[in-house]
Formats: sequence, structure tokens, C-alpha cells
Amino acid sequence: MSKTMEALREIFGCRVSASLAERYCYASDASQVQGMPDYVVRPENTQEVSWLLRFCSEHQIPVTPRGAGTGLAGGASPVRGGVVLDMSGMCKIVEIDIGNLQVIVQPGVVADKLNLALRPHGFFFPPDPGSSAMCTIGGMISNNSSGMRSVKYGTTKNYLLDLEVVLADGRIIRTGSKVLKSSAGYDLTRLFAGAEGTLGVITEAGLKMAPLPRSRKLVLTCFQDAETAGRAVISVFSAGITPSACEILDRLTCRVLKSCDPNVAVPDDGDVILFEVDGQESSTEEEALQIAEICRQQALSVRVADSKKEMDEIWAARKLVGAAISRLDPSKTRIYMGEDVGVPISRIPSLIKKVQQISAKLDIPAMKFGHIGDGNLHVALFIDVMDDVQWQKLRLAADRIHRAALEMGGTVSSEHGIGQARAEYLPEQMGEETLQVMRSIKRAIDPANILNPGKLAL
Ligand SMILES: Cc1cc2nc3c(=O)[nH]c(=O)nc-3n(C[C@H](O)[C@H](O)[C@H](O)COP(=O)(O)OP(=O)(O)OC[C@H]3O[C@@H](n4cnc5c(N)ncnc54)[C@H](O)[C@@H]3O)c2cc1C
Repeated sequence: MSKTMEALREIFGCRVSASLAERYCYASDASQVQGMPDYVVRPENTQEVSWLLRFCSEHQIPVTPRGAGTGLAGGASPVRGGVVLDMSGMCKIVEIDIGNLQVIVQPGVVADKLNLALRPHGFFFPPDPGSSAMCTIGGMISNNSSGMRSVKYGTTKNYLLDLEVVLADGRIIRTGSKVLKSSAGYDLTRLFAGAEGTLGVITEAGLKMAPLPRSRKLVLTCFQDAETAGRAVISVFSAGITPSACEILDRLTCRVLKSCDPNVAVPDDGDVILFEVDGQESSTEEEALQIAEICRQQALSVRVADSKKEMDEIWAARKLVGAAISRLDPSKTRIYMGEDVGVPISRIPSLIKKVQQISAKLDIPAMKFGHIGDGNLHVALFIDVMDDVQWQKLRLAADRIHRAALEMGGTVSSEHGIGQARAEYLPEQMGEETLQVMRSIKRAIDPANILNPGKLAL
């Protein structure tokens, strides 16, 4: 047994592993980015995380924090080896503090489980990624994740009040408190949001929660083409309506869903936008009718779904997209590479058009879906992995989509993060000088560069 393993065993016992089988399980997240850890460590408390980081700093061992590994940019892939720190075992809801409108959790709490616990109290934690049944709060904070409801409620960072963070040298800090607002000093809480585990390990989080809306209405609209669907989104916003969700499922996405489950609650003869509004009964009624009216001028069909059962079925269909893709065409070896670009909302129709042109020119099928109300489009590209030419085309298509978003003043990642998968675009998006500031912050907090090295173009 190596000296490192001996030291780790002394603290973590059977919660450290160097078995090849287990290391393989932690070699990547849900992206194509691969690494291979030397050790997998499962801490149970903050003190253990602190000990581990101090030890790894002293011995220059890379540490990659990991939640559920559902990230799509390689954030949790240990590209420089070392330790994968599996935080999923620290999964207690520490306190639901109704009086102060907040909840304190450990980082391994799964998003849906948090919402199940908040619901009986009449509250919810709004960021709602498609992976909410699996992903952890630590991963969501570190990727500044968002989802269906961000168009009205904002992203994970909008709900952070206080973090307990272990720094690379083992120091434990708190970044905030229970107060709902504070203007005292640098906003360190939000510095760790979106840092992808490169600045510290989050061991506890104080989160704001929102009251559950009394009423919800969903308007299901279907258009002749995706560009017209994109224009309808702008018309709705321009009318002064902020939906609580605004999702696009293009024709191909709907067909993929139907092939996975023929009873799925979406049409398959057009490009679909789902608009949801929430609030008081009277306001949702009025806004849903307004949206229907606006869309009717351009749509093939418009329907207001107001029964909970029907709405639940439609949202379940939306959440099925990721799984449906992986079941597509099982007889052939296919790969799905999901892009996560975002543009200012006025550029949505142009982005959709551009993606269609790229897909047609390279002859690669491209599904388009996602949180279009935020200007965020996921593009799923398919190839046969046994075909080298298709691999080249896939890379070219992904590159052109990223560059198109940047040319439109957008971002290469609206919510999945940069990780290693999109690191090459960060200098262009941020500018070299801004990136230098980021690198200075990294050096100041983690001078030995042990925390998630090889990510974020640092
Ligand atoms: C089917 C599917 C649908 C998805 N839909 C969405 C969506 O709608 N919106 C969205 O935003 N994302 C989505 N994602 C991406 C992903 O689920 C989110 O980014 C999620 O928040 C990652 O959480 P995780 O627990 O899996 O984190 P991981 O993938 O394990 O890690 C993500 C990053 O966080 C870091 N990290 C994890 N825990 C900690 C910690 N305690 N301290 C410090 N750093 C930490 C890791 O090092 C890594 O850089 C989807 C993914 C899939 C597979």
C-alpha cells in the first residue's frame, strides 16, 4: 500500500478506494471528457474535507470535487488524476427555517429531494434543471445551474445567502449569514457560484426559498418552423409578460420523444413552445389568454392546459428529453453531444436559423430544445461513432455553433458550465485581460493549483 493510501485510510477507512473498478466509475461526468482518478474519497463532514485538502496541498495532489456527476462539460472529470472527492454522502437538510425564509443544506442534497421536503411548508427552491432528480445542490451552485423556471425566478446564484467553503489549504470559511441582503465587502458567496470547484469545496449552503405559487397555467403552442416559434417568444416578452417557464422543443425533439414513448404529451407535427405562467388565479388566467392570443397569429395550434394532471404530463415529457436521446436508435452506435449556447433574446430567431444552416450544411441531425425564454438553446447533434468522417463533422458543427453564439454577443454556456469541454472558447468570450483577473483570483486562493486543475482555461 502506498504512503498516500495509508494516510487516507487512517482518516477515511473504507470510505477511500483505489480499486480500478471504482476509479472507472468516477473517470468522467455525463460529458465526453475523461480522466482517471488515483483515489476516490467519500467524506462525511467538513473536518474531513479540511484534513484532506490540507494533506493534498502539502503533497501536491489534485482534488476534483464531485456531486452526482451529471455535469455536461467535464467539470467533475479528474483530468489530472489525484483524488475525486465524492460529496454525495454529505446529504442532510440541516434546517428548514420558515421564519427566515431559508433552508440550510449539505452539498450532497439532491434538488428534487429538497423540493419534496419544502413542499409541505408551502415553499420551493426554484432553480429546476432537467437533471433535478439526480443533481446535487453542491453541483448546482458550482455550475450556477438553472432550468425551466429561471426565466422568471433566476439561477442558483440568486438563491445563495451563505456558504461554508473549505479552501485548498484546509481553512474553513463562511461567506455570508442569514440576513437576506448585505453590502459588506466583496461578494464571496457568488464568487464560488460557477467556480466549478476550482476555488474551494462547498460543505454547507444557506439558500433562500420562494413561496409556492397558488396557480399555474400552461400554454402549449405549435409552429410551422422553429424560427417563427422563436419570434413568438419575443412577441410575448414584448407584450410585458414574463412567463415562469418558456421552453422550446423543436419538431425533431418531439419526434424523438414520441419514439421513446408514443403517449408522450407533445404534438409531433411542428415546433413547440411551452409557456407557463404562475401567480394568483386571476393573473394566470389573464396572462395565459394573452399569450394564447399573441401566439394564435403565428401558430399552427394553441392550447391552454390548466388541469394539474395535463400540466404534469407535459412537463414530464420535457424532462424526458435527455433520457429519450440516449434511447434513440439503439440498433446503431450513436453519440449525442449537447451544446448549451445562449444569446440575447432578440437574437433567438437568428441563432435558431444559424443552427439549422450548420446542421443542413454538414448533414448532421440537430435537435433543438431548452430554456429559450433565457435565450438558452441546447443543440443535440447525432453521429455514428464508428465513422471518423462524422466525428470530424460533429466537432466542426459544435465549433460553428459556439462561434455563432459568440458573434451574436452570447455565451458558450448558459448553464452547464465550461469545465474542460468549452475551455478553448473562454478567452474569446471573456477577453484575455478579464481572464487574467480570474487567474489572479485562482492563484491567490489556490496557489498550488490543486483544486480541479485543467478546468475553466485557468
Ligand atoms: C439529462 C440532463 C439534463 C440536464 N439539464 C440541466 C438543466 O436544465 N440546467 C442545468 O443547469 N444543467 C443541466 N444539466 C447539467 C447538470 O445536471 C447540472 O450542471 C448539475 O447542477 C450538476 O450537478 P451534479 O451534482 O451532477 O454536479 P457534478 O457534475 O458532480 O459537478 C459539477 C461541477 O461542480 C463541482 N462540484 C460539485 N460538488 C461540489 C462541491 N460540493 N464543492 C465544490 N465544487 C463542487 C464539480 O467539481 C464540477 O465542476 C443536465 C444534465 C443532464 C445529464
